[in-house]
Amino acid sequence: MTCALCKEREANKKNTHFLTDGIIRSCLNLEGSKEREKGFYFDLSNDNAFIEFKFQRETSVDKLISSLGRDVTNEEIEKAKSIPFSVDNVFCSVCESIFTKIESKFINEILPVFRDTDLTGKDTINLVDIKTVRLFFYIQIWRTSVCDDTLKISEDVTENLRQIILKHTTINANELSHYPLAITYLQTTGGEAEYTTNYVGFTNDRNPNLIIMNDFVIQFYEYSDSVRFFDFFGLTTEQNYNGLINYNDQQIIVNIFHNDRRKQLLKDFITNDRVKQTIQYYTYCFGKLWFKLFGDYPPIQTTQEYLQALTSGVEFNVLQYTKENIMEVTVQFVQSKIN
Ligand SMILES: [Zn+2]
Repeated sequence: MTCALCKEREANKKNTHFLTDGIIRSCLNLEGSKEREKGFYFDLSNDNAFIEFKFQRETSVDKLISSLGRDVTNEEIEKAKSIPFSVDNVFCSVCESIFTKIESKFINEILPVFRDTDLTGKDTINLVDIKTVRLFFYIQIWRTSVCDDTLKISEDVTENLRQIILKHTTINANELSHYPLAITYLQTTGGEAEYTTNYVGFTNDRNPNLIIMNDFVIQFYEYSDSVRFFDFFGLTTEQNYNGLINYNDQQIIVNIFHNDRRKQLLKDFITNDRVKQTIQYYTYCFGKLWFKLFGDYPPIQTTQEYLQALTSGVEFNVLQYTKENIMEVTVQFVQSKIN
């Protein structure tokens, strides 16, 4: 394998993070919290109806079981052994050091402006070091698109970002500011454990491409004429979104989402989106199964009873099942209808 960045050397690096470890670590840390769900990330892609869990390597299987409150599948155990958001043999060690350089500069010079600062009363923060900020967010977007099929960007933009990253030492701010970019900082107060309530993941919406990495949300547009309002649980509004998109500017404006709004966003995000999608999927599968068995689609009443059996009245419960759990409940339900 040849390295995806230099396209010259052998891709010899193992366990390379494609989302910066220093940013996402506190979110994925299971030690931080005893509560269920926390420390897990959601794969936000629409085509996967089941939530995929990934865990840090240190997480033992026992801890995994007690955290989830159910047995884990073999697949989940395998995943527990791998480091989340990392890949093997995609980059070479020389290029890995380029990433580290860009990441270190951001972590040392920019991150404290957010994590170690009292943001009370601030709705935005303006950053003047455009180059450091853009390079940092570009490597997240570019690496994710190279390493994970969920986030796709067009070939010419991928190639252009690759060139920008390679020229990181000599390129100037004007040469890399032509991609519309919006950044939201999710203020996370209340101690280290509070970070584990955040998420890491990305969507396949494309316009904009959206990555959540713990307390940062990146929205990246490939073309300036494709900028449009995108409602992501109130992250921006139709009134303010345009002013928060940075494009050929002299500084970068970062949207500040205060702690209470962050909590609300994450709550809405889970309950509205994920639950709705999952229930839709189960309804569809149940209909198909019923048709196979009885040659007809189930009456609405029956579907509702089935969903009631599945959720015990709390829709959020659907997010906690494995495929095996679902099968069990479904078989029992159908049997009860036959008898
Ligand atoms: Zn390389």
